[in-house]
Order: sequence, then structure tokens, then C-alpha cells
Amino acid sequence: MSDITIHSSVTYLKGVGEKKSEILREELNIATIEDLLNYFPYRYIDKSKYYKIKDLPYNINTYVQVKGRISEKSILGENRGKRLVAKFYDETGSIMLVWFNNIKYFSDMLKTNETYIIFGKPTQFNQTINITHPEISTEEKNTFNNVPFLPMYNSTDKCKKYGLDSRGIYKLCHTAIETYYKQIEETIPQYIREKLHLIDKQSAMRKIHLPQTASDIEQSIRRLKYEEVFLMQLLLLQSHQSVKVSHHGHILPKVGTLFNTFYKQYLPFPLTNAQKRVIKEIRADFLSGKQMNRLLQGDVGSGKTITALLLMLLVIDNGYQCCLMAPTEILAQQHYQNICKLLKNMPIEIGLLTGSTKQKERTALLKKAEEGSIKIFIGTHALYEDQVLFKNLAFVVIDEQHRFGVEQRAKLWRKNLTPPHVLVMTATPIPRTLAMTVYGDLDISVIDELPVGRKPIKTLHFYKQDSEKINHFLKQEIQQGRQVYVVFPLIQESETLTLSNLMDGYEMFKKYYPEPTYKVGCVHGKMSGEEKEAEMNKFKQGETHILLATTVIEVGIDVPNATVMVIENAERFGLSQLHQLRGRVGRGSDQSYCVLISDFSLSKEARIRIQAMLNTNDGFELANVDLKLRGPGDITGTRQSGMLNFKLLNIAEDELLISSARNMAQCIINDDPELQKEQNKELQTAIEKIKLTNKYYQIG
Ligand code: ADP
Ligand code: MG
Repeated sequence: MSDITIHSSVTYLKGVGEKKSEILREELNIATIEDLLNYFPYRYIDKSKYYKIKDLPYNINTYVQVKGRISEKSILGENRGKRLVAKFYDETGSIMLVWFNNIKYFSDMLKTNETYIIFGKPTQFNQTINITHPEISTEEKNTFNNVPFLPMYNSTDKCKKYGLDSRGIYKLCHTAIETYYKQIEETIPQYIREKLHLIDKQSAMRKIHLPQTASDIEQSIRRLKYEEVFLMQLLLLQSHQSVKVSHHGHILPKVGTLFNTFYKQYLPFPLTNAQKRVIKEIRADFLSGKQMNRLLQGDVGSGKTITALLLMLLVIDNGYQCCLMAPTEILAQQHYQNICKLLKNMPIEIGLLTGSTKQKERTALLKKAEEGSIKIFIGTHALYEDQVLFKNLAFVVIDEQHRFGVEQRAKLWRKNLTPPHVLVMTATPIPRTLAMTVYGDLDISVIDELPVGRKPIKTLHFYKQDSEKINHFLKQEIQQGRQVYVVFPLIQESETLTLSNLMDGYEMFKKYYPEPTYKVGCVHGKMSGEEKEAEMNKFKQGETHILLATTVIEVGIDVPNATVMVIENAERFGLSQLHQLRGRVGRGSDQSYCVLISDFSLSKEARIRIQAMLNTNDGFELANVDLKLRGPGDITGTRQSGMLNFKLLNIAEDELLISSARNMAQCIINDDPELQKEQNKELQTAIEKIKLTNKYYQIG
């Protein structure tokens, strides 16, 4: 008995045999007693309080406990609408209890005239208050009467079969706390806890599982949330720091002729203040002697490319090479064409390397890159390949980062003895809190200002039935010499459906917009690179008026004369995608429009997304809406990586906590980068432990 610790298997816990232990491991990923203690309740039943029916709060998403009796019950409806409805009353009034599942079971079990305690979320429907699928127990069986707040734990069907429902898990946690609580190790040193008024770990663990008061719950959650985000920030900053320390960066002091000439003679417009500020921030990194890893966030059309180009000129002035990577071939080509045009009077050699570059040309390009004569090497993933060598690469710009992983960035560091400075540009703005968490190892710059003179894009919403109005509007625009994108959704389940959807649309459009007055083009994922490019070019040259596409055009395509973006089945698109698509228009000085077309019946979420699009053009605002709708993992594509699997922290809501933890972590890392000081030894231990168990942190 004596050598059982919280690191021992849950099998050693009273009430857990081989079978339960196996179920816990398989279903809930709980292997040790410590794992069990880290399995937190998702909410609490306030046992201290019974609501009277006349006082029930409803439609505010809150759980209540009510004591009363059932006066009548009946099974209504058929098929999917079939339900058990029971009238439940106390001396102040009555409500309806509703079950859609296990109808027979509850119908048999529930007796009139017996007193029940029910627990659930009241909602109002047709003038009556309902509780759907309430938890229900009798007064005698209510063995938790002595517990003021009963914690509720998530469980699974299989767990329930073996007595591991919420109450079963609660009992185990109760035993585990009582027996092993003294073994729980502190992770946050006292001096920090005092500063932040955080309770100690043992108390927090006891209070989260066995709270006596509402404030116990609040304090323990705050403390444990803080721990989650704080340790993560320490880790990220530490690895960031160690990259900086171990990787000296190129020092690029000169502002030379190339930069100055371009700035004074060829820059087609004055920079926005935000662009200037970002250039300054990055200049400081170029002088620091440390390798830069920076994320540049800026809404679509905020002018990230020209900002990066000016920085590249600085780098070339200092005698080094740059490369610019794009996620798709179309984009790489577009960058190449734009940059060639901008630099046409400057003595700078530019190369383009993509998957479809012909062998002969490729060999020549690689040779030039290695000799150092190509100063700006633009391309796709092809640039990552091992054969691509540089003479002296000092600056890498990665456009639209969300398609490049952390691992790929890491690979770049290894391309040279002294790693290049890395600037990752993204037009998918993510909320600050999320950026701090996911990209805690990157510095962040933001272009938060659009160039002057842009007319805000007008966004309109039509239902499918309004096609006459829509066509009338589009014809008007085309007659004024404008061009129109029409985007069809990717139908996730089926590529064939996607294509046939697009093709049906194509037939329709050709009918409504007959040649020779109108020309309609079409691009989709099934076309070869060359075919796509040919279609895109026709549109760019103004030969086609309307371009139908699947989301191929989502990222970065620049056709200033296109002023209308029509999005078919807008309800099928995510918010950031809608915003990206909208960003394809509004690039010239003409008024631009985004037309969202949807089905008449919309899900609640789809309605929120469309409404958000109508409300604002601000990508950051939309990103916040999106974060609340979808959760962080989906937004950053990090769901699988495990780094956002917080137990308690809610990235969308805990912004203050996150910034406070980030600041504290920064102070500590500045003062004690390796966490060697005695006062930080708890932190050091806690972090080592996370590193051992979390793969993410081993990258780079
Ligand atoms: P994004 O940030 O989406 O990559 P781009 O760099 O493609 O934006 O810029 C969008 C358009 O705005 C381009 O046509 C670019 O030339 C133009 N642009 C960039 N900066 C400015 C500015 N300061 N004033 C006016 N136009 C600008
Ligand atoms: Mg861009």
C-alpha cells in the first residue's frame, strides 16, 4: 500500500478493478490516479438551492434544480417527432419535461405522485417552459444531499455500462482526493501565486472536485486555468528564446541604393502608417543580430506584399538573397509577375520556381540561386526541396502561412549555417489571444490599416429565389465594363457533386449571359495547372466577363477590374473563407460588391455568419465571431496537434487571463531563461513534464 503514489495505475484505487481500469483508459484516457484527478468536472449542480417553478429563469442557458411531482405523462408525435411529455408541478406552477430518447424507459419509470428532483436547462416554447432530457432522481436516492455542489463529469455510453457515469466518476475522484491529495505537486511557485492571488495546487484540486461553496469553484478554476495557459506560454517563450539564442541572425545594417531608389522613384503610392511601422519593426530585427521569426497579420488588401518587397530590397542592399514562398502555383506566378513589373527598372534578378518549371530551366535557376545571382527567388513548396541551395539567403517570406506547418518553418532554419530571418504573412487574421497561444513562438506585427481611397465593399444577401434581381444587377455592372467572380462551394462529401454543381451553374450562366455579348469562363480543381492558368489569364486580360470557380481563387488573386464577388450557397462557407473571397474584389477605385446567395432556410450558425459578413468588413472582428462559433482548433488547423487541448481555458473568452499569463511568463523568461533559479524550480519541473508528454514541443 505504502508505495502506491498518484502515478500508480487507477487499478489501485478502491472501487476500481481491472475492467473499470481498462474502460477508464480506453474511454477517457485515464490511466493513473493523477490522470483521474486531472479529469475535471464540466459543471456543478447547485445542491444548495431548489428553484420554485414560478421563479425559473429560462432562455438564459442556465441549469436549475427543481423539486416537484408529475401529474400526467403522454407520448406524442411520430417518427422523429415522437416524444414523451410529462407535466411537472410544485405549489407555484407547472412546466413540461420532454424526452426524445429512451421514451419507453422513462415512460415506465416515472410515477405520478412521487416526488422527484429534476435538473436541467429550462427553455420557453409555445408559451410553456420546458426542460428537455432533465436529469432526474428521487429524494431518497439522492445520496448527494450532503454535497452543496455536485460536480458533473463527462462520461461515455460504455463507461456508464460499467458504473462509470458522472456519479461513479465523482465517487472515484472523491476517494482519490481523500487518499492522495498530499502527493499533488505544486507547479506555480509561491511568489507568483501571491502576486496573482492564486490558490495553491492542492487546494485547487480539492476544491474543483469537492467544492463547498461557489467561491471554491471560482477560485479553483481560475487557478487551474492560469496554470494551463501560463505553463504553455513559458514553454513557447522558452523555445522561442532558445531559437534566438542558438541562432544568430544575419545583421543587415545598410539602407542602400536599391531601397532608396525604389522608395523614391518607383513606389506607386505612399505607404500607410501601418506599413511604415511594420517596416520599422522588422528593421529593428534585422539589426538585432538574432534570427527573426515574425508573423505579419494584415487583412486582405492591406498591402503586405509591397511591405515585404521593400524589406527584401533592404536585404539585397546588404548583399544577401531572399525568397518568397506562396501556397499555390497561381499565386507564385502572380507574385512573380507583380514583382517583375514593380522592379522592371531595377537591376535585380528574380527567379520563379514551381512544380511545373521545366527541367532545363530548373537546372539553370538552381545554379543561379547557388551562385547568388538570383536575388529574389519566388516559388511554391518546390523551394523547400533539398536541391535548392542559396549562396547567402538571409530573408524568407512565406505568404499565407496557414498552409505551411511549423515543421516546415523549422526546416528552413536548417537550410543555412546562419538561418534566414523568417516573415510569415497571413491574411487570415486570428484574434490576439489565439495568436499569442498558437504562435507564442513568433513575434507578431499587424497591418491594421487599409490604403486610403479604398471604397468599403458593399455586401448584399439574396436568397436563391431572387435570381432575376441578381442577374439584373450583374448585367448592369458588366455593362459598365466590370467583371464578376462567381464562386461555388466545395461539397465536402463529394468531388463529383462539387463539379456537377459548378457545371450546372456554368450552363445556367451561359444561358442567361449569351455570347457574344457576354463571355463566361470557368476554373476548377480538376483542370490541369496550364488550363487553369489560361482561364485565369483570360479573366485577368478582361476577355471573360464572368469567371465561375470553386474555391481555387480563394487566396490572393488580384484582378482590380473585378468588382463583384458572387458567392453561391454562401451558407456552406466558413466565415474566414467568405471574408477571403470578398477580399478578391475592392482592389481598384470602383465601388465593389459581395453578393451572398443562400438557401431560404438557414441554420442558426449560417445565419450568424451571413449576418456578420453584412455587419462588418473587418477581418479581425470576423475572426472573433468565428472563434466563438468554431473553437480555436478549427481556425488554426491545429486541432490535431494537441496544443490547443485545454481542459479549462476558453481561448475566446479568457483573453485577460491569457495576456496576464503571457506577460508574467515573459518576465520570468527574461529574468531566468533556463528556469535555473531556486525560486523557479517548480516551474522547471512542471515544464519538463509537459515536454515529455507533449509531442508538439519537440519540434524545432
Ligand atoms: P495583401 O495584404 O492582401 O497581400 P496586397 O499586397 O496584394 O495585399 O495589396 C493589395 C493591393 O493594394 C495591391 O494592388 C497593392 O499594390 C495595393 N497597395 C498596397 N499598399 C498600398 C498603399 N499604401 N496605397 C495604395 N495601394 C496599396
Ligand atoms: Mg497577398
